[in-house]
Amino acid sequence: MKKLFSLLLVLAVALSSAGAMGEALPAPTLFTPGTYEAEAQGFGGMVQVSVTVAENEITDVAIKGDLETPALGGVAVETMGEAIVKAQTPNVDGVSGATVTSSAIIAAATQALEAAGADIAVLDEFRRDTEENTVREDKTLDTDIVIIGAGGAGMAAAIMVQQAGKDFVLLEKMPYVGGNTTKATGGMNAAETHYQKEQGIEDSVELFAADTMKGGHDLNDPALVQTLAEQSAGAIEWLDSIGADLPKISFSGGASTNRIHAPADGSAVGNYLVDKFSAKLKELGVEIMLNTKATELIMEDGKIAGVKAESQEANYTIRCKAVILATGGFGANLDMIASYRPDLQGTVTTNAPGATGDGIVMAQAVGAALVDIEQIQLHPTVEQTTSMLITESVRGDGAILVNQKGERFTNELLTRDAVSAAELAQEGQYAYIIFDQNLRNNLKAVEKYVTNGLTVQGDTIEELAGKLNIEPEVLAKTLADWNEAVAQQNDAQFGRTTGMNANLTMAPFYAIQIAPGIHHTMGGVKIDTSAEVISTEGNVIPGLFAAGEVTGGVHGGNRLGGNAVADIVIFGRIAADSAVAYCGK
Ligand code: ADP
Repeated sequence: MKKLFSLLLVLAVALSSAGAMGEALPAPTLFTPGTYEAEAQGFGGMVQVSVTVAENEITDVAIKGDLETPALGGVAVETMGEAIVKAQTPNVDGVSGATVTSSAIIAAATQALEAAGADIAVLDEFRRDTEENTVREDKTLDTDIVIIGAGGAGMAAAIMVQQAGKDFVLLEKMPYVGGNTTKATGGMNAAETHYQKEQGIEDSVELFAADTMKGGHDLNDPALVQTLAEQSAGAIEWLDSIGADLPKISFSGGASTNRIHAPADGSAVGNYLVDKFSAKLKELGVEIMLNTKATELIMEDGKIAGVKAESQEANYTIRCKAVILATGGFGANLDMIASYRPDLQGTVTTNAPGATGDGIVMAQAVGAALVDIEQIQLHPTVEQTTSMLITESVRGDGAILVNQKGERFTNELLTRDAVSAAELAQEGQYAYIIFDQNLRNNLKAVEKYVTNGLTVQGDTIEELAGKLNIEPEVLAKTLADWNEAVAQQNDAQFGRTTGMNANLTMAPFYAIQIAPGIHHTMGGVKIDTSAEVISTEGNVIPGLFAAGEVTGGVHGGNRLGGNAVADIVIFGRIAADSAVAYCGK
């Protein structure tokens, strides 16, 4: 009200001064009505913004950005127009995780509005979506089950609960679904699957369990690992049944045989599953409550009785019999990381912005025990200025790592913890990943690194070295030695045996400066094999279930590639079954 009054005052002053000069009084206007267009560079290409204004009102904002990543930048393209109209200024909050697209939209909208004659500072001053102008309603809902988090585990659970005919609510605090699951590139580990049998691959539940324990340095909960392995083939069949087949099997680090299952066309498993799960939920008529954050679990008589949540419009009290926590890990909460692992203070993260450990904090508040909470996986190849993960496939396809001296320092395909530790032991605690045009030609992911300006390029190895401030002769010798090792299929220096199918001889040559980044939080809420949450006293907390990265125990001290997706699908399903059975009691 006060602001409206001051706006009128500003306009009145403008009018009276015009009047004092003896001119006819113009109508007060903020804009010259019309439609104005501008564009700015987004993540994948140009983003076009078309703004329509009346004299004192932004009436419509249309955004076009077909080349933006659908799950992130695409969300900004879809939602920020409405936000600008609501706020009546271009300076609205961007979509977290889609900074480049969001900034492009704001820049283009600003330009278009300035062309319409707007003074952006005035628009900012009188923005209409401020906290003081927002009234949140109190709302109470009643349901059987609340699923918190619409990442892989939450969406798998939601499909199961819907198919079981229970009433439920699915909460997601971000404006988009998918969480860290969208970041999974490899596939899903599973043993004794029909695909393995059809492709003549011998494997067993016992071998899968043993590999997982060994990979996790035997810190894992053996009962959870056994359940993971036993239920993996059934989970693959369930994925088939909802149209999310993973028939392409290959080898992944730490497995004794070909066990990682991926989409037929080899595309990244995370986005594939998130798309398939979203489509299935849509087909089943499930509405996901986006932009709605769970803040507290309600307990009554020692049992779960509800969830408190909030959105821009409402404070919710959701009464329910059971809760499935599927809130993911805490890899994007750097304060929480530092509190459990002071040595990781300041490390960049590859995580989706919603991975802030909310579920862990909420569960602890109702007495849940935590396991292995300090076990945090670093990914060794993260570009530090953008936090972009340089996929393992680059090394798998033949890239090497060199330090600032231009020398190799490790077998580049050891486990993630070992390669990360080797990098941190180098001067400056970083390294360069080096590859050639042939590798770029054969690996689609590399284009993204080039278009985002992450690569340094040279027509010769010496030219590349010069740009990296490395002694040219040293880098040239490192490459020559490596190419000889590939020719001989013998890496005498570091004993590398994989990712040696192609040498690095085709110009131009490329380098990306990388260092370790936080990738996966392996610890979390303690669960049993029925996904029931266990209290610090060792008892089941009635009505509370958890699945996915929010839990601890499955991965122990080191997660194998392919086991995060197995975890979310398998335990997401188990949590749903258990919650449905609990509600039936
Ligand atoms: P998982 O792999 O275990 O399924 P993901 O990271 O894929 O984990 O998904 C977790 C999801 O939970 C993310 O989409 C995240 O935004 C969401 N989330 C996290 N905390 C909350 C919360 N307090 N309320 C609602 N959703 C949440």
